[in-house]
Amino acid sequence: IREAIGEAEKHGFRAQLPGLHKVLSDVAEAAGQPEVALQAAREALALAESFTGEREERAVAEMQARYDAAEKQREIERLDQAQRIRELELARSREENARQGEQLARQDLRLLLFAIGGGAFALISALLFALWRASRRHGERLRLLADTDGLTRVLNRRAFLERAQQAWERLQEEGGAASIALVDADHFKKINDTRGHQVGDRTLQRIAAALQSDLAPGAAVGRMGGEEFAVLLAGADTDTALAAAEAARARVGSDHLRPEGVGFPVTVSIGVASLHAGKVASVEDWLLAADKALYAAKAAGRNRVLVAGPEQFLRTATI
Ligand code: GH3
Ligand code: MG
Ligand code: MG
Repeated sequence: IREAIGEAEKHGFRAQLPGLHKVLSDVAEAAGQPEVALQAAREALALAESFTGEREERAVAEMQARYDAAEKQREIERLDQAQRIRELELARSREENARQGEQLARQDLRLLLFAIGGGAFALISALLFALWRASRRHGERLRLLADTDGLTRVLNRRAFLERAQQAWERLQEEGGAASIALVDADHFKKINDTRGHQVGDRTLQRIAAALQSDLAPGAAVGRMGGEEFAVLLAGADTDTALAAAEAARARVGSDHLRPEGVGFPVTVSIGVASLHAGKVASVEDWLLAADKALYAAKAAGRNRVLVAGPEQFLRTATI
């Protein structure tokens, strides 16, 4: 048995050693050697104890290792989780960026569309305004053309009669005074006959210019036909109208002395009719009165102004 114990120790069979010592103890006891038996039993016990201690240490070490491994695994898992969280956060922030980018792009698009819309609106408004202005100017030009005598550039008969009608109506409502002076070129036919129609035309233009220059505010000149003109003097009573007509007659008479004049003397006869509220029934009557005064001026020797007075009394102006 001792030999077996020696072999076992030699070859490291440590687990068998307590058993072998137990057998030795039993055999020694049976053989009547109590001291050897006790010694062997003690040996067996000590070995068994140390063996148990060793096993326990191993178990503890194993447990420690397993714990460490588990801990490591948990650490790895924790790291994995943290990594995943980071990845998720990154993905979320990328998504958020993309969303914000999209929102900005949408905002930009809205602004762009708004700007385009505003620009288009402004452009269309400007175009419409230009169109409206052009058409208004065109309308004004057309009206001016429609109201103007082509040769002399003063009002034509229709436009002049409109103005006279307006003045007559205003007078019925508001009272006050207004006068018409009918102007007819003297012996005009002779000018045409001796100097030609073109010179006649030019003479008509100069008469119109002379009548129009130095005109009182609110006054209007019209060509009533042929070589006959009319001057509407709003607000002018008989005396004022007479003075204005006399001045006009003088201007025509001296126009030939001006550089732009026709170069030979031209005279006009003028009949003035003043209107006072309620005295004349219509514009036609008003013009008729002026025409009578003009006829009287012609009959009285031309180149003069006559005024239609009350009861057709004709007042002669000084020449
Ligand atoms: P009175 O002093 O009595 O007014 O004589 P008058 O020759 O001026 O009058 P009359 O009515 O006999 O002749 C007017 C002339 O005016 C006749 C016509 O040929 C001429 N006349 C009318 N219109 C025009 C025109 O536009 N141009 C020219 N050159 N002559 C015109
Ligand atoms: Mg005449
Ligand atoms: Mg005439």
